[in-house]
Parts: sequence; C-alpha cells; structure tokens
Amino acid sequence: MNKSSRTALEYKIILESLIDGLYTIDTNGFVTYINDGALKLLGLRREDIIGKSCTSLCEVNDGKNILAAEFHPVYEVLQTRVSISSDAYSFVTHDKRNIPVFVSISPMIINDRPVGVVCAFRDIAREREIDELKTNFISLASHQLRTPATGVKFYLSMMRDGYAGELAVKQKEFLNQAYYSNERQLGVLNDLLDVAHLESGKYELQTTEIDVNELVEKSISDHQTFIETNNHLVIFNRNPQPIKAQLDCAKIRMVVDNFVSNAIKYTPPGGTITLEVRDSLDTFYISITDTGVGISTEGISKLFQKFSRVDNPLSTKVGGSGLGLYIAKKLVELHNGTIEVHSELGKGTTFTIILPKGG
Ligand code: ADP
Repeated sequence: MNKSSRTALEYKIILESLIDGLYTIDTNGFVTYINDGALKLLGLRREDIIGKSCTSLCEVNDGKNILAAEFHPVYEVLQTRVSISSDAYSFVTHDKRNIPVFVSISPMIINDRPVGVVCAFRDIAREREIDELKTNFISLASHQLRTPATGVKFYLSMMRDGYAGELAVKQKEFLNQAYYSNERQLGVLNDLLDVAHLESGKYELQTTEIDVNELVEKSISDHQTFIETNNHLVIFNRNPQPIKAQLDCAKIRMVVDNFVSNAIKYTPPGGTITLEVRDSLDTFYISITDTGVGISTEGISKLFQKFSRVDNPLSTKVGGSGLGLYIAKKLVELHNGTIEVHSELGKGTTFTIILPKGG
C-alpha cells in the first residue's frame, strides 16, 4: 500500500467513524459518497443510494412545508456556490421519521472547478427538547413570579395615592424607590414571558389594518412623562399621507415602544430624538434617531442577541434586561421585516424598521 492510498484509507476511516451524517453529490445532484452515520440516521443502505438523486435520501422540511426538489438546499448551494449552515430544516425519512437537523452544506471546488457539494448534518432532536423544557420553565417561573409582583405594585400604588394615610417625606421617598424597583422587576418578567412565548413556536399574529403615523404618534404620547423628565426634544416627521398597513398593532407598538424608550434611556438630558415615518411602494420605514451615547461596532454585532447588554456610560444607571431588541427583531421578522442600525459612539444612533405593508 503506497503512502497516498494509505492516506485515502485513513480519511475514509475518519468519515466512517463520525456519528454525524455526511454525504456528497456531484454537479448533477447524484450521491457520490455517504458515510455510515448518514445511513444510520436516515435508515438507508449504501447500495440503494449511491448514484441516485440526492432527493431520494429523504424529504426536507423547512419548518413549514416539505420542499419541492428545486428548493432543496443542496441544489441551492450547487447553483449559488454559497455555503449554508442552518438549524431551520428537518429531514423526513422514508419510514416517516421527522428528524430536526443542523446542516452545513458547502460547495466542493477543485482547481477552481465546482465538482459537487458536501452536506454534513446532525440530529438536534435532543437540543430541541431541552430548549422546549427551558422555555416552559421560564414561562412557568415568570408567571408564578409575576402574580405576587403585581400584588406588590397594587399595594404600593394604594399607599402612594394616600389610601393608608398621610406619609412623611422620607417614607414617600422610600416608597417611590420600592415602586420603581417593582416596575423594573415586572418589566423583566414580562420580557421573559414574551421570549418564552416567541420561542414556543405558538406565536400567532393578529393582523388588522392600521395607520402607521398614528401608531408612532401614540407611542410618543405614551412616553411623554419620561421624555419631559429627561428634558428631551422630540421631533416627529410623519409621512405626508397616511400609510395603511396590515400589522399586528399591539406587537409593532411593542417594537416601536422599545426603540423609543431606548432612545430616551440612552440619550443624556437635553438631547434630541427624531422619529420619521416614510412610505416606499410596498414597504414603509419607521426610523428612530437619537443624539445619545451611541454604540461601538463590536456592540452593534451583539445588539440583537438574547440578554445582550452593551456597556455604555448610561447602561448601569438605566437598567434593563437585554431582551428588548431580541424581542423586537423576532417580532419584526414575524412580519417579514428587517431592522437596520447605524451608530457612532458619542454621537447617537438610528434604528430603522422596514416592514411590508401587506404584513
Ligand atoms: P436593555 O435596554 O433592556 O438593556 P435592549 O435589548 O433594548 O435591552 O438593548 C440592548 C443594549 O443595546 C442596551 O443594553 C444598550 O447598551 C444598547 N442600546 C439599545 N438602544 C440603544 C440606543 N438608542 N443608544 C445606545 N445604546 C443602545
């Protein structure tokens, strides 16, 4: 056995020893290699599959539907030559098992010539199960914690409103501190409940026709006290004509409220917050610009991750859960929209929400 064939054998042993599945296809979409891991996961025999179309390995579900052959991700990579890594798919085997998978699909290139595609995949059913348990736990714990916290809020409000008699100045001061701490606690619990609900996969949008200018106007007016306390100037450039859109009004309000409240939180007193609503054919834009502390390039890359709080001169003072932008992004994506961010440290930040009018 010469050195090169020994190396080929070693490579084969490595591939066959993998628990993960791996197969390759040629440029015509026919299976050229499949390892034992893939055969075991898919319940196939090598002799039945080599030389057959890759669609005969299993069906691919994108989380909603079984994909038609032309939308098979392996063909997509074959055509675009752009790699895909995703946990959005599940493989449906011939004996109708539905296996959620993490797949990595990459083009194989030799001397600048495409020779096919390699697909590696891993069964992530256990991870999904753990994620679901975690989500259920967070949801249950937040529910149980929210009820007594809401009770505390009720009694603190009664005392603040004088139902327990006149309070001394110091007592009022302590009571206000307790009230604001309780508000923050309820805010975090509500964020956790929203995350648990969003991640449960049972989130449904209730879309109705709304006027976007009006929605933004209401958000500003609900933050008026907060704006005045911080001595901010708020400018609202509404779209000259009303923009009617099919949206889940409560959810998009949550998104806009989050950006408005962040703009207030992360802008020092005296700063300016500018909101703009803009129409553009089938889509519309809502942008929120502040003259606040800004976000570094590194901070921007972490901004929409769960529990991500970016350090800035105001972050310890204002508090927060680091869940607001994560929730906002998920809600905008549920409406098939996107969020853009531009920021400069020390100068300010602009968040732009881009949404289709049709929902
Ligand atoms: P929270 O504000 O509760 O911490 P968010 O998810 O809403 O959570 O925001 C995440 C982080 O992004 C914040 O901790 C803050 O550092 C940063 N951030 C958000 N909006 C702004 C803004 N307008 N200006 C500067 N930093 C911001």
